[in-house]
Amino acid sequence: MSLEKMYDQLVELELGELLEDEPLYKHTTFKVGGPAKYFIYIKDLEALQKGISFCQKNHIKHMVIGNGSDLLFSDKEYTGIVFSLMKGLNNVKINGSKIIAEAGVGMIALSYQAAKTGLSGFEFMGGIPGTIGGGIYMNAGAYKYCFADVFESCLVLNDQGHIVELSKEDMKFGYRHSLLQERKDWILVEATFQMTPKDPKEISAVLDKRKEKRMTSQPWNFASAGSVFRNPDDKAAWQYIDECGLRGFEIGGAQVSPKHSNFIVNNGYASSKDILDLIHHVSTTVQEKCQVLLKPEVILINWESDDEA
Ligand SMILES: Cc1cc2nc3c(=O)[nH]c(=O)nc-3n(C[C@H](O)[C@H](O)[C@H](O)COP(=O)(O)OP(=O)(O)OC[C@H]3O[C@@H](n4cnc5c(N)ncnc54)[C@H](O)[C@@H]3O)c2cc1C
Repeated sequence: MSLEKMYDQLVELELGELLEDEPLYKHTTFKVGGPAKYFIYIKDLEALQKGISFCQKNHIKHMVIGNGSDLLFSDKEYTGIVFSLMKGLNNVKINGSKIIAEAGVGMIALSYQAAKTGLSGFEFMGGIPGTIGGGIYMNAGAYKYCFADVFESCLVLNDQGHIVELSKEDMKFGYRHSLLQERKDWILVEATFQMTPKDPKEISAVLDKRKEKRMTSQPWNFASAGSVFRNPDDKAAWQYIDECGLRGFEIGGAQVSPKHSNFIVNNGYASSKDILDLIHHVSTTVQEKCQVLLKPEVILINWESDDEA
């Protein structure tokens, strides 16, 4: 059955809010990306299981996104289904010094909630605009802390449709790496974190200080996906980019941020292609001039050769 004709079946499955030909620029912090044939705000875990099983049976391309804050979708149509967990899997439970958060919970709000409750450990995520699912996928981090430091265990929907529990060891955390990058057909649904009790005022003070620091050092008022490149070694990616004189360099509406040269910003009229061309230009220039390979941290989706999904 063609994707066009699947609409009625998807409605019958009652998976949640179903959008057709939904522009993905509305769901990414770069504010670029072509339409997804279907975009579904999954209403709960059962709906997610049903939706994934439907895709598997019908061989439909599909993926789960969080807040789209690390994604560069191409400008062309995503001929499949994009599932968002942000509306249906967004519960948080606090049990003593443990926090149990569903995959669609936003990191920034959660870091402030933890602070208020007097639980320390999420201060690193105060300025990261992603979800728990995307954060664990990336083992996101800042200020020398990352998810691996507080992670205890998680529940994952595996490719067989079962919910399985994974330990910290199972997750193979590394620098911006987790097992989920090796098992792209597994979906994190919930994670448990071991926190440390601390004075709420102390935690809030750290969050506020770091927020201020981000506001002065990052282009927070432009669309971006945070750091574009992984740090290749002890020297940060931005230092190599600066050495090559690329700060402020533009292609179309995409620009190496004058404020932070490891950010590429959308000046309001960038296409996905502008951003990808700029990523290639920066990495090629750094390789030629510094003999260092900068690998993108940003995830490329729905491109010809770099396809992730
Ligand atoms: C202004 C700004 C600042 C940033 N600062 C930082 C920073 O300090 N440190 C840092 O590490 N990152 C930073 N980032 C990048 C980004 O926010 C993080 O990588 C974040 O973890 C991505 O989360 P997300 O929910 O947006 O994931 P998305 O971008 O939506 O998805 C990322 C990947 O995770 C997968 N995924 C999402 N949810 C699930 C799930 N439930 N199960 C399995 N896979 C899933 C997606 O399929 C995709 O492959 C920043 C971004 C911006 C825009």
